[in-house]
Amino acid sequence: MGDAHPKYPLLFSPLKVGNVTIKNRAIMGSMHTGLEEQADGHLRQAEYFAERARGGVGLIITGGISPNEEGGGGAKLANAEEVARHRVITDAVHEADPEVKICMQILHAGPLVRSEACVAPSAVASPIGGYTPRELDEAGIEKQLSDFANCARCAEEAGYDGVEIIGSAGYLLSTFLVRKTNLRTDKWGGSYENRMRFPLEVVRRVRAAVSEDFIVIFRIAAMDMLQDGMSWEEIVQLAKALEKEGVSIISTHFTWHESAVPTIATMVPRAAFTSVTGRLRKEVSVPMITSNRINMPDVAEGVLARGDADLVSMARPMLADSQFMVKAAEGREDEINTCIACNQACLDHTFGGRQEVSCLVNPRACHETQLSYEPTAKRKKIAVVGAGPAGLAYATIAAERGHDVELFEQADEIGGQFNLAKRIPGKEEFHETLRYFRRQLDVTGVTLRLGTRVDADQLSHGGYDEIIIATGINPRTPAIDGIDNPKVIGYIDAILGRKPVGERVAIIGAGGIGFDVAELISHSGKSSALDIDLFAKEWGVDFKNHPRGGVTGVEPEVAPSPRKIWLLQRKTSRVGRGLGKTTGWTHRLTLSRRGIQMVPGVNYDRITDEGIYCTISGEPTLLQVDTIILCAGQEPLRDLYDALMETGANVSLIGGAYEAAELDAKRAINQAAYAAAAV
Ligand code: FAD
Ligand code: NAP
Ligand code: SF4
Repeated sequence: MGDAHPKYPLLFSPLKVGNVTIKNRAIMGSMHTGLEEQADGHLRQAEYFAERARGGVGLIITGGISPNEEGGGGAKLANAEEVARHRVITDAVHEADPEVKICMQILHAGPLVRSEACVAPSAVASPIGGYTPRELDEAGIEKQLSDFANCARCAEEAGYDGVEIIGSAGYLLSTFLVRKTNLRTDKWGGSYENRMRFPLEVVRRVRAAVSEDFIVIFRIAAMDMLQDGMSWEEIVQLAKALEKEGVSIISTHFTWHESAVPTIATMVPRAAFTSVTGRLRKEVSVPMITSNRINMPDVAEGVLARGDADLVSMARPMLADSQFMVKAAEGREDEINTCIACNQACLDHTFGGRQEVSCLVNPRACHETQLSYEPTAKRKKIAVVGAGPAGLAYATIAAERGHDVELFEQADEIGGQFNLAKRIPGKEEFHETLRYFRRQLDVTGVTLRLGTRVDADQLSHGGYDEIIIATGINPRTPAIDGIDNPKVIGYIDAILGRKPVGERVAIIGAGGIGFDVAELISHSGKSSALDIDLFAKEWGVDFKNHPRGGVTGVEPEVAPSPRKIWLLQRKTSRVGRGLGKTTGWTHRLTLSRRGIQMVPGVNYDRITDEGIYCTISGEPTLLQVDTIILCAGQEPLRDLYDALMETGANVSLIGGAYEAAELDAKRAINQAAYAAAAV
């Protein structure tokens, strides 16, 4: 064994699992990418995983693969043809680095399968499933068990180093364990011993179907966050029984998908749940994996140093930066493109069911065969105007490719609107993206000119081959009678604290920014994203006593808003409907617990010194407020572009300057990355 890493000695220490050595303690956790079901998905996954293997991770776990049609079907592994496709993936990973291990996750989604043919221990529909499942009879149970064994056998044949069986989240195995989803009275239900029987039998069959050195990981719900969910004693009993059945590693998972506690969103403190793994680790001797909001090497090292786990799973952080572990190893952690836990391009896409997964901060994620930053054959002199996310992404990628890039920013700092976003409680991670870009500007050699507002004349005479306008947006001022009343302020002034905000406030516009402003002005005290105890209190989690499900079951303690707030929109649809698929509910719930009135169907009639006169669902109403904050969307800022077009310069638009409607950082960075890859 070589010398210990000076900064991350535990993270970079190998771990022996039976006769297999995992070269370090970092796991790329399982994530469904949408590539699994595609015709050429195996080729794209091969490159996606191989890049992560080259990036230094010790063990990769694939997205969920079903053992049969009932389990989800879209991506399954059950026959020779499917084995051949998976072989492409395992070969690519082992060629990239023969020391890197790759395990395939076997996922039988049970009642969460979107089909009438879905199955479960009992005919109990999930609150988030589309169908009432068919209760499995004895033959059905036997079929599932033998399909699991067959799937594991196929995985070994396909070259995987192991499998992970998911026994959590509301998928099939976990529904056997929990009383509310298992109403059976035969040997597969009733007592806890009976409810454990199916998951344990799956492990027994899988173990018997594969060779001794094949890794078998079981993902257990160490805190399912369900009212009347699993008790701590039941979890320990299951872990001990799994150990007896010969699992190689236990991975701890937190939550079922239906639970109302956020476990990975950006407002969850870093490493919030690892203490639970630490408690379970004391009960068994198999290595234990922990996960959730571990997004930087020092966080991972801290978890290992506390003895919370043997291995640390980082799923989204490996999307955000495939070279995470190489950078950590080389002391270049300030170059890590950190996952900000926004879910916008990963889980929102998966659960939205329509788009392929990618990453807001790294559009190459899952698109490795389609977007690459090759060195340029023809070095160009490029001016980029605006150092918001779009300008930063464009400038750093173009410079990385070898172009000579000058970046102009009128403010004294880079970041554009991210400098507003980072001030919102729960969005502290946005600081990391700014740190990443600051460092990338140096590493790639961009010439940064801060405090420099350029005009068309300077640019057109600057000798540039290309001019990229990334000047962003102007907040929209809606045409409402009395809009210039001194009560009315813009969201930028409100967020920066440049203008006072009174005790009674109306927010016009309930998009992402309206919600963020409501969060900011209704918040008091410390951000719970930075304090695990506070987070637990706000979301009703009891880490210490671990009642059933880990949740207290009483209305969580939320600091009341210091202001009376109305969050208004014209649309008659539910307020906040357009927010992220996997995070929108957390924002709606937080604001309603603080007593914020979210009002749809508003017609703004006029603003006076009394407040805002509006018609709400046909009823004339006066909201007597001290302050009205405008969060009514944005218009592109294109003056410079228009002026440059007249000079005949070679100029193009990206980000908010190109299109402000529904613009977010995901689209801004994505558009910039593709443009910079092509220049
Ligand atoms: P901007 O960020 O607006 O940057 C434009 C830059 O150009 C500015 O720095 C400006 O100073 C500079 N500039 C303008 N004119 C000139 C000139 N003539 N010369 C020099 N410099 C100039 N998006 C998400 O995806 N997820 C979120 O969670 C999220 N949260 C947000 C929260 C808040 C409070 C706000 C305000 C926005 C949030 N957004 C979020 C939106 C996101 O920040 C924007 O979509 C993104 O910043 C747009 O990037 P951009 O580079 O096009 O423009
Ligand atoms: P937005 O999401 O488009 O919302 C604008 C709001 O203003 C809407 O509620 C709209 O609703 C209202 N509005 C539009 N025109 C109006 C008018 N003329 N008069 C009165 N109201 C009007 O834009 P945003 O909130 O400014 O956010 C900008 C971008 O940043 C968005 O794309 C968003 O996704 C992104 N962002 C994301 C997050 C996140 O957490 N993911 C957070 C912040 C921002 P009605 O038309 O119904 O009134
Ligand atoms: Fe992380 Fe957001 Fe990227 Fe998902 S999209 S990996 S949450 S930064």
